[in-house]
Amino acid sequence: MTRDYHKYISTRAIELQPSGIRKFFDLAAGMEGVISLGVGEPDFITPWNIRDRSIEALSDGFTSYTANAGLLELREEICAYLNRRFDVTYQPENEVIVTVGASQALDLTFRTLLNSGDEVLIIEPAFVAYASLVAMAGGIPVSISTYAENGFKVTPELIEASITERTKAILICSPNNPTGTCLNKEELTAIAEVVEKHDLIVVSDEIYAELTYDQAFTSFSSLPRMFERTILINGFSKGFAMTGWRLGFIAAPKELTSIMLKIYQHTTMCAPHMLQLGAIEALRNSSEQVEKMQKSYWRRRNLLVQSLNRIGLDCHMPGGAFYVFPSIKKTGLTSEEFAENLLKEEKVAVVPGSAFGPSGEGYVRCSYATSIEQLQEAVVRMERFLGRYVDR
Ligand code: PLP
Repeated sequence: MTRDYHKYISTRAIELQPSGIRKFFDLAAGMEGVISLGVGEPDFITPWNIRDRSIEALSDGFTSYTANAGLLELREEICAYLNRRFDVTYQPENEVIVTVGASQALDLTFRTLLNSGDEVLIIEPAFVAYASLVAMAGGIPVSISTYAENGFKVTPELIEASITERTKAILICSPNNPTGTCLNKEELTAIAEVVEKHDLIVVSDEIYAELTYDQAFTSFSSLPRMFERTILINGFSKGFAMTGWRLGFIAAPKELTSIMLKIYQHTTMCAPHMLQLGAIEALRNSSEQVEKMQKSYWRRRNLLVQSLNRIGLDCHMPGGAFYVFPSIKKTGLTSEEFAENLLKEEKVAVVPGSAFGPSGEGYVRCSYATSIEQLQEAVVRMERFLGRYVDR
């Protein structure tokens, strides 16, 4: 007799949507000769000096727990980095927590903020985890759709139209995954006015801050009066090519971090000790490598956007991250059909825009964190594919 496990499982867990990205990884994994523009991670290996430091730390026996918030030395480096790069000031003693990736930082944030039924505004198309993390913490994700015509930028009017008396927070991700859209200082300042007017908290996911190409990156917390309203989330995964290290951090007013730490003590204790030592090295001595990787992404972005527009896939020029988000509407296919057929017929993996919310329909996400040669070959295959679906 097979047991019915349904009755043992929480409704929240059952209702959670699986990631639309993973599904395509699994499909592509079983095929040979696939060019993947699907993955959201750097194609670089973590710079050697960072790896060396953690290898040495392991050899030297740094295998114990650390303080819950992370090594003080690392928190000091994080504060110095945030100040140097983004002009924000945090206290290492009580305003920073080292987490297991930005993912855990987000989870900890929503668990700390939300009561059942509290609403969180999410600007769509959005990173796949946001809505699920809000829902798992008992909150209600409220989507705000953005559109290609406006470079996928949210406006204060769009935000105000979605605010209710239950709205507690807004999540801002600039540069954005999946669209690569960056909001400039003026645009963020206009959002800050709405935030202040409606007394909201801002969860600012700045994980792609190092990958901003055409303008200076603005940290939300650096805007006038926004320090006290911002939970800044960042980490080492993208800019430092350290996805597998699972290291991120939160910087926020101490009244918030002190409560977050209570939850963290019970759920995680701390991030791995020997990896935290590598992260100190990353912040102290990797700016040249970070800049080199950034330049390389910039070249690839330019190549891919130009190539996609040339073959007839309309694509705006994203200001950051390592994604482009071209329209596939001309093909008459849904984004899921497009991704599935392209994979089967031409062995190129992209992610359907619908995986990032309903407003992503009609688009696909292509990551350019892969070699120029692979990108060029992917474009050749996509052009051939389009020849079969679009009359030109
Ligand atoms: N936030 C965004 C917008 C992301 O795209 C990702 C990863 O793809 C994360 C957070 C999670 O990053 P981490 O690897 O630090 O958990």
